[in-house]
Amino acid sequence: MCKVTRGIILGVMILMASNLTSTAKGYEGFKVAVYTRAQEVNKMGDVNWLSTRWDEISRQVHVDKIYLETHRDVVLVSEETMEKAKKFFADKGVEVAGGITYTIMESNRFQTFCYTRPESRKRVKEIAEYTAKQFDEVILDDFFFTNCKCEACIKAKGDQSWSEFRLDLMKGAAKNLIVGPAKKVNPKVKFVIKYPNWYEHFQGCGFNLEAQPKIFDGIYTGTETRDPVYTDQHLQQYESYLVFRYFENIKPGGNGGGWVDTGAMRYMDRYAEQLWDTIFAKAPEITLFDFRQMVSPIREGLKAAWQGQQTSFDYNDMMKPIKLADGTEVAPSTMARAAGYAFEQIDSFIGKLGNPVGVVSYKPYHSVGEDFLHNFVGMCGVAMDLRPEFPTDANIIFLNESAKFDKKIVEKIKGQLDAGKSVMITSGLYKSLQGNGIESIVELRIDGEKAITSKFWSRRSFWGRQGTVYESKSPIIISEIKYLTNDSWEEVSCLASGNGYPILHSADYAKGRLYILTIPDNFGDLYNYPAEVLNQIREVLMKDIYVRIEGPAQVAIFVYDNDTFIVESFLDEPADIRVVADKRIGKLKDLVTNEEVAGELIQPPARRFGPVVAPDKMGFNLKLKPHSFRVFKGE
Ligand SMILES: [Zn+2]
Repeated sequence: MCKVTRGIILGVMILMASNLTSTAKGYEGFKVAVYTRAQEVNKMGDVNWLSTRWDEISRQVHVDKIYLETHRDVVLVSEETMEKAKKFFADKGVEVAGGITYTIMESNRFQTFCYTRPESRKRVKEIAEYTAKQFDEVILDDFFFTNCKCEACIKAKGDQSWSEFRLDLMKGAAKNLIVGPAKKVNPKVKFVIKYPNWYEHFQGCGFNLEAQPKIFDGIYTGTETRDPVYTDQHLQQYESYLVFRYFENIKPGGNGGGWVDTGAMRYMDRYAEQLWDTIFAKAPEITLFDFRQMVSPIREGLKAAWQGQQTSFDYNDMMKPIKLADGTEVAPSTMARAAGYAFEQIDSFIGKLGNPVGVVSYKPYHSVGEDFLHNFVGMCGVAMDLRPEFPTDANIIFLNESAKFDKKIVEKIKGQLDAGKSVMITSGLYKSLQGNGIESIVELRIDGEKAITSKFWSRRSFWGRQGTVYESKSPIIISEIKYLTNDSWEEVSCLASGNGYPILHSADYAKGRLYILTIPDNFGDLYNYPAEVLNQIREVLMKDIYVRIEGPAQVAIFVYDNDTFIVESFLDEPADIRVVADKRIGKLKDLVTNEEVAGELIQPPARRFGPVVAPDKMGFNLKLKPHSFRVFKGE
């Protein structure tokens, strides 16, 4: 028997077995895809090589779709090899799509193509045409940007900034080198651009979120956040949710999915969290990067210190043999099992979640300022909904420094206040709008002075009677906000050597109220604000949402419009939280365990002045395990 025939027969036998596994059935509410780099597709001409690995992957995680890449790092897969790979997957009923990575050398600081020099432009176009000829759907991995500063690019830039030059350059490249030529070769082709996780900085390398989503048929989202501490991006875990929602708001209905790799994590729960939070954002598809990583061995070293407490990602449970339908058992072996196990933990309830809702925030296209702050706010337990257009429909909006890129932002804030709505802005936004009209709403001064503080108190529970001072876990450096007495008011304050400064400040204007939130110099210190400080910030921001949480930071809430919500802790130790819901919700039903949690009516704090307030909220006390979520339906 020749080697190839033997390989095929082995492949068929393995296929028969793998079709009977428990992972043969798809997941409800989301599809799973695996991306394959050109380097691995190049090996797929050897069916034996391919079938062995595919069997290992597909018996540990259900896969609906495979992306096969034609190009990366100047590696181009031949049509002959690609045909074999396409046929292999099509025969197994797996959906097949193409992919392109426009890199010259990924390992050389992500060396991209030059989009100025004619010979480089020609090559970009040829690769798009070559791929479109072979596939009806093509996705660009997230390197369709340029960091080229060759002489030709420097000359072409002229007096523009790099951001201006590259935004325009890559808008043209999308149209004239990618989508246009591809559609000429294959009019049916659906071309999708995948954007990575560094959305705040896209303009610098020419990712054009304003123009490109209109040029491409679809967009896709890199939701990998990896380790928030020990990576140079320091992306917060909440971003896996937020960035998908943000891109969905840029192209409603056109954001095809989220994309996660297995890189840069210190414990395996982090991998599962990225997958979960992407799907909690209602991504219809999730792509596992990549084929190679899916066959990489499970490393015992990634078992976290808090394992053994029946947390949401239970390492020992994951390592139990997978039962095949024919009764045989297979031991988990590779990272594909970590993905499969993570999906099985959420499969039962994703279909029951409604549409995500959150505190509306606005980040103009190509803006930067207080970089990625919205994710820190999300980590403080505020459900966020980031949008690219100013949201006039919301009763309260949250604006950070990036909003200064809208030249009419002060007028727009006034418009909201005139209409009787509230706006919360950060100290960073106020500071950058000083001298640009913000004083016409309220006269504050935020100059260079700093205070170091670790004590906090709330005006509403202190003034005129005994109150409590709350301490932060460590000292925090803040900007001093100065205001004019009796013109605006401290809601939450900090103390520093007998002095004090606003943390949450408010000013009435027309029929509305402007809040100013002091952001610590290090955004990470938001997590050190005492729970009571965070509770008051959450109460203001989430007043129109039927549910919120009280408790420490690094516990997130994901809220849906059908009385379902998820609370997820990213803390390494257990956390006590209180869910605060509208009075109409009498109990919470856990959608995983069916357990019911009873609530009690929350009595509003006694007030010295003003009318008596009737209780209108229910409280539900919960304990969350480390790195674990709970999902509820309010009833
Ligand atoms: Zn160049």
